[in-house]
Amino acid sequence: IPADFQATTTELKDKVILITGAGDGIGKAAAICFAKHGAEVILLGKTTKKLEAVYDEIMALSPEFDIKEPAIIPLDMKGASKQNYIDMATTIEQTFGRLDGLLHNASALGSIMSFEQFPEDMYQEVMQVNVNAQFIMTQALLPVLKKSPSASIVFTSSSVGRKGRAFWAPYAISKFATEGMMQVLADEYDNTKMRFNSLNPGATATNMRRKAYPAEDPTTLKQPHEIMPTYLYLMSDQSKDISGQALTINR
Ligand code: NDP
Repeated sequence: IPADFQATTTELKDKVILITGAGDGIGKAAAICFAKHGAEVILLGKTTKKLEAVYDEIMALSPEFDIKEPAIIPLDMKGASKQNYIDMATTIEQTFGRLDGLLHNASALGSIMSFEQFPEDMYQEVMQVNVNAQFIMTQALLPVLKKSPSASIVFTSSSVGRKGRAFWAPYAISKFATEGMMQVLADEYDNTKMRFNSLNPGATATNMRRKAYPAEDPTTLKQPHEIMPTYLYLMSDQSKDISGQALTINR
């Protein structure tokens, strides 16, 4: 992000932003950060209790911050159907009239194991959540994203989505597919009011990171809230000329 990027407390005022995987980790920090900066946030995730806890945390920020009540969408992207996403898009259109931001953040890691041994059902599950569901959801949301004067769609990548690494299939494969989806969309909607980028957050202390690196001391890692300036920048109009970029948080 530009060194001179400064976010005001109203940076995301009048923006409606959907965050997938908003119940935990980076998605939770993003939902709180966006709400603090004036956005109306839509929290999508698998575990309703976690979403409700994030809802409570956001509401408790009022009156210090000008908080809009979040919306909650409990949805397991593993089993969700195209109709679920179409219904979700219809509800968003009826409730808000548009969608200004979409943070594709939810992901399944699967297991770290050899390519030869990887169980096919786990491969299918990771691809379903990380790629197929993202495809269907994006397709369903494009009409309501087009209603925004300036829509930002951010896909979440990983260092293994930029360079393959032993034992990281299918997660790595899914992240390469995510990069491909972002590039196709950015090209297809070039010179429109919509922009598409991918972001690799880098090693961050979350449940997923702990699962991938159980022996690591999480206090040596970045905490989710520390990487929020980049997420905020990408959702704000200050990044409206950036599209088709594969970005990385280096810190
Ligand atoms: P977490 O595991 O902490 O959070 C992932 C979130 O996604 C959870 O809220 C989880 O919900 C949700 N989710 C997972 N599966 C589904 C599903 N089937 N349907 C709906 N929601 C689901 O991970 P991180 O915060 O670390 O990861 C966020 C993103 O960042 C991911 O895309 C990840 O690949 C990426 N990333 C993370 C890095 C890191 O070091 N942490 C490094 C590089 C990339 P629930 O809690 O209810 O299961």
